[in-house]
Amino acid sequence: MQHFPIFVALAGRRVVLSGGGAAALAKLRILLKTEAHVTVFAEHPAPEIEAWDTVGKLRLVRRAAEVGDALCAVLAYGANEDAAEDARFAMLARADGALVNIVDNLENSQFITPAIVDRDPVTVAIGTEGAAPVLARKIKADLEAALPVRLGVLARIGKSFRKAADILPMGRKRRDFWADYYFGTGPHALEDGGEEGARAELSKLLDRHTTTAPEAGRVQFVGAGPGDPELLTLKARRALDTADVIIHDRLIAPEILELARREADLISAGKEGFGPSMPQDQINALIVEHVRAGAHVVRLKSGDPTVYGRLDEEIEAVEAAGQSWSVVPGITAASAAVASAGQSLTRRGRNSEMRFLTGHDMDGFAEHDWQALARPGTVAAIYMAKRGARFLQGRLMMHGAASDTPVTLVENASRKDERVISATLGTLSDDIKAAALTGPALLLYGIAPREAAATLPQFSPKDIAL
Ligand code: SAH
Repeated sequence: MQHFPIFVALAGRRVVLSGGGAAALAKLRILLKTEAHVTVFAEHPAPEIEAWDTVGKLRLVRRAAEVGDALCAVLAYGANEDAAEDARFAMLARADGALVNIVDNLENSQFITPAIVDRDPVTVAIGTEGAAPVLARKIKADLEAALPVRLGVLARIGKSFRKAADILPMGRKRRDFWADYYFGTGPHALEDGGEEGARAELSKLLDRHTTTAPEAGRVQFVGAGPGDPELLTLKARRALDTADVIIHDRLIAPEILELARREADLISAGKEGFGPSMPQDQINALIVEHVRAGAHVVRLKSGDPTVYGRLDEEIEAVEAAGQSWSVVPGITAASAAVASAGQSLTRRGRNSEMRFLTGHDMDGFAEHDWQALARPGTVAAIYMAKRGARFLQGRLMMHGAASDTPVTLVENASRKDERVISATLGTLSDDIKAAALTGPALLLYGIAPREAAATLPQFSPKDIAL
C-alpha cells in the first residue's frame, strides 16, 4: 500500500487551489462539499468560480499564486493543466508547508484524491494508486447502484442518536441495536414516516433493546471451502461478518481470514487434519467458554466441516454445555480437486459410487476395504494421503489393483499455488516424493486429469506432469 487512506477534517481549515479551468472546476466541486476555507488563485477563472466567489463559497484571487499563498493551508491543489505552472506552484506550496496534489500527476503529488461515493456522512473512497482509473470508476458505479440514495439520511439521523444509544453496554448489545436500525426497522420507518418516523423508531428501538435480555451465544460450524475466497458460501461470508469469535484451523487461507469482521477475536486452533494440533479437548473447551460468555462463535473449518473435521466431538461438547449450534456446509477439497482435474467424481459407465477415504487416522495408516477399492473403475477421494501414499499403494496392489490405475494428486486445490499432478498407482510414491509437496494435497484414486484441463486458465500447463 503506497498511499494510506485517511479522512481529513477540513472544517475551518485552509485549502488552496491554483488554476481556473476544467480541472480546477472538477476539484472545486468536491472541495465545496466540505467546510474548508477554499482560496483559488487564477488569472483567468471560469465563470462558475467567479460566481462561487460572489456568493462567498470560496475566495478568488485573480493572479498566479506566489510564495506565502499556501501558508497555513493543509492541502494545496495544482490544477493549472500546465506542467510548468503546476511544478512552480507545487514547489512554493510545499515550501509553505502544505500537502500538495497535482491533478493527473501522480508522481509529483504527495497525496491523491480517491474516487468518492457520497452518501454523506457515509463516504466511500476508492483508490487504485493510479494503476487503474477504469477499475475505480467501475467500482464507484457499482457502489452507487448498490447503496440506497437515502443511506446518508439514515446515517445522519443515526449519528445524532449515538449519545443516547451509549446507555447500551459497548460491544454486542450496542452493535445489535445499530444493526437492527440500519438493516431492519430504520429503512422502513424512513420510507413510511420520513425523517420524523426514523427518529421516533430509534427511540422505540432503544427502549426495546434496553429491556430485552442479552442474546444467548451460539456456535456456527462453518465450512471455509478449499481456499479460494470465492468458493465461500454466502452464509459463510455472513458468519465471518458477524462473528464475535472465530476459532479456525491452520489450513484456512489468510485471504479468508482477512474477510473476518475487524473486531472479531481470531483464535488459531492450529489443527491440520489429524496432524499436530491443539488437543481436541482444549478446542472443545475454548468453544464452550466463548459461547457461554454469550459470543457468536464461528468454528471455521477447511472445506466442509462434516468431512474429516471432528465435528461431532465439538457438537457434543456444545450440546453438553446446553448451547445452540448449527452447521454451514462448505465445498470439500475433493470437489475442488476434481474440478481442477476437469473430471467428475461419478461418471456413467465408470463409477456410480465413490468413496471418501483418509490416508491415516489417529491410530496411524488407515485400513480400508482394500479388495473393493482394488476393483477396476473404483474412484476414491483420499484425504491426508501424503504420508501414507506408500502404504496405500502397497495395500491396493497386494489386493490386485492394476499398477496403471490413474491417480491425480491435487495440491493446494483452488489456491493460487495449486498443482495438478498426474500419476499412476505403480509410480505413486515416487511421484509424490518427486513433487516435494508442501501444501495440503488430495489424492483422486481412479481418475486421471482430463488433458483439456491443461488449457484451463486456473493453472499453467507446466504444472501438469502428464
Ligand atoms: N474438512 C476438509 C478436510 C479436512 S482434512 C474438507 O472438507 O476439505 C485435511 C485434508 O484435506 C488435507 O490433508 C488434504 O488432504 C485435504 N485438503 C484440504 N484443503 C485442501 C486443498 N485446498 N487442496 C488439496 N487438499 C486439501
